[in-house]
Amino acid sequence: MGGVKPLALLLPGLIQAAEPTFVDRVATVPGGAAVRLRLVFRQGLQVEGARLPKAFRASETSPSGWIAFESLSPEGKRWALQALWPEDEWRSSEIRHRVVWPELESAWLLASLFSGHGQNYDQIQAVNPDKPEKLVAGDVWIIPKTLLCTDLGGPVKGVLERSLPEEEQSDETRVAAYRKLLTFDQDAQGAYAAYRLRKGEALYSSVVMRYTDRVEPKEVNQLALVIAKRSGIDNVRSIHPGALIRIPVAYLADPFQPEGSQALREEREVREEVRRTPRVDAGPKLKGVRVVLDAGHGGVDIGARANGVWESDFVYDIAMRVKRILEQDTEATVSSTIRYPGLGFQIRDAIPNPTKAAEILTTPPFANDGESPSAVSVHLRWVLANDFFTSFTKNGDARKTLFISLHADSLHPSARGTMIYVPGAASVPPRFALGAARGARVAEMKRSSAVTFTAKERLQGEARSRIFAETVLEALRRDKLPIHANRPIRNVIHRSGKSYVPAVIRHSRASTKVLVEVANLTNEEDAANLRSPAFRERFAEALVKGIRAHYRK
Ligand SMILES: [Zn+2]
Repeated sequence: MGGVKPLALLLPGLIQAAEPTFVDRVATVPGGAAVRLRLVFRQGLQVEGARLPKAFRASETSPSGWIAFESLSPEGKRWALQALWPEDEWRSSEIRHRVVWPELESAWLLASLFSGHGQNYDQIQAVNPDKPEKLVAGDVWIIPKTLLCTDLGGPVKGVLERSLPEEEQSDETRVAAYRKLLTFDQDAQGAYAAYRLRKGEALYSSVVMRYTDRVEPKEVNQLALVIAKRSGIDNVRSIHPGALIRIPVAYLADPFQPEGSQALREEREVREEVRRTPRVDAGPKLKGVRVVLDAGHGGVDIGARANGVWESDFVYDIAMRVKRILEQDTEATVSSTIRYPGLGFQIRDAIPNPTKAAEILTTPPFANDGESPSAVSVHLRWVLANDFFTSFTKNGDARKTLFISLHADSLHPSARGTMIYVPGAASVPPRFALGAARGARVAEMKRSSAVTFTAKERLQGEARSRIFAETVLEALRRDKLPIHANRPIRNVIHRSGKSYVPAVIRHSRASTKVLVEVANLTNEEDAANLRSPAFRERFAEALVKGIRAHYRK
């Protein structure tokens, strides 16, 4: 379609004096009339109606004044685009669009003109991963036929279904969807994964918490700064949608490591094991299931504290509610690793103050001394639980052993909802023995302070625990309880430069073992939930539903 006569009038700016607010062109239409077109800042493409052929207007559009691009017929749209950008190449499989006016053009504008809606901008960006957020004159953007609106002969009928990972998706699908949003590349500073920030996303949650294993607020903030600097971003608080984020490969969590890496191989091996692992049936009464509940912290150690809630008493109450429901409604055998002597195993609606005493239920009981590196009780929890499981498996089915540790964390305040840790097979040592010096004089130490795992057992441990975690999250979701938005199932904690699996599940002999972070105390809504006895009851009920669903074929 020839006959385009560029005028390229740069008129005095209305919004910003230095920038053109629109450009103007005249092109001939079939029949020979000259018709003006203009591209207006923030308004898009318009065509003068007076001499426009009737066939170029949508049926009900009046020919007077300027006609918006959206009110043109399919034929008119095609003509207008080709008249405004005569250098574009319209191929059968794609349009190769050459940027002419970078001040007026954007991925949003291209999406709105070619796909029918500006909100498809991220899809356009995704097929042009090497292009900068701010368009550059002379750059060629590819618009594949699959992203064209129906008027231009493509399949798109409005806002495209986003590739946004939906909350209902399984962990594997979700992680795969997150992975698809990355492209791997290399520059003078080394290998990185490139990610385009989407509308409404923040660097902290959508990049750092999702793609690295960091969750601790200070570390999340620090790494956000490192990544921002690496991406050439000065102000972390005002990053535009579409900004290109470079995540150095060294920081990526295992599922996001590059093809060919050992971490990714191990990740896939676990996913494969999950698919191979048959479900174990115990019926709705959980016949022959051995459950050990482990409420984190207690006594001298109240755990995390924020927004008027502290970890120990609140997770203890949830554990006691789970215990009560299991004992009332099922035949499962349930034990707790810990007991608050003044309270026993009672549930409470009001929790006014931190409880001062808590004991690990070894023989004899051991006063809880916290989770510091020198603490003993953190190890006694798994020693005791393993002792329960050893005596159970003499006659019971080892596949029906379940260990649940309950905690609440203090993450970046933007994060909320439940997160579940499973023991990453690669992070569990094949053998571990708790030295007498680090233990206590309790009967269980003699019997159960050493543990060994074959490679197969470690793999199965992670697989079964993942299956359980997924089932629990489904139950929580169904009961409308909040779940962590980014990768709610994790197999390793990264903290202070170290990656590890929490000791209570790392050395657990249970076939299924998880550490549940019920809520994020630094998030006000989460904290309010924990304060509510109704929430604690609902959470306990959903967890029991998850346990029952897990032992069903
Ligand atoms: Zn904790």
